[in-house]
Amino acid sequence: MNACMFCRIAERKVPSEIVYEDDQIVAFHDINPQAPLHILIIPRRHVVSVEELKEADAPLLGHMMLIGAKIARDRGVGDSGYRIVFNTGMHGGQTVFHVHLHLLGGRPMSWPPG
Ligand code: 5GP
Ligand code: ZN
Repeated sequence: MNACMFCRIAERKVPSEIVYEDDQIVAFHDINPQAPLHILIIPRRHVVSVEELKEADAPLLGHMMLIGAKIARDRGVGDSGYRIVFNTGMHGGQTVFHVHLHLLGGRPMSWPPG
């Protein structure tokens, strides 16, 4: 069995609230939302973090970000604004080691992040 929770979510082997999927990526609600809208967008392929991505992954990254923006618009936060972020490594606050893009919206965000 794949030990990676996000691989298992992508394979639909564990339940999650999937909001979008295609042959490359899956988007689903974060289990512990930090904003009224909190979606995670992941590649189907297991990649640990942004640090492991290569030039050849640039289209994948662009696709993840553009789908994030589309989900934001579809869910009504396109005009009010939102944040998309890759937490990366220890100082980045990454806790799940399958790369994921956070989409957060529905409330004002502060800067700088904690
Ligand atoms: P990170 O801290 O790595 O940037 O973000 C990991 C995110 O994954 C957290 O926001 C956490 O709530 C979410 N998460 C962890 N385990 C699960 C899970 O099993 N299902 C879902 N839907 N989200 C999860
Ligand atoms: Zn994985």
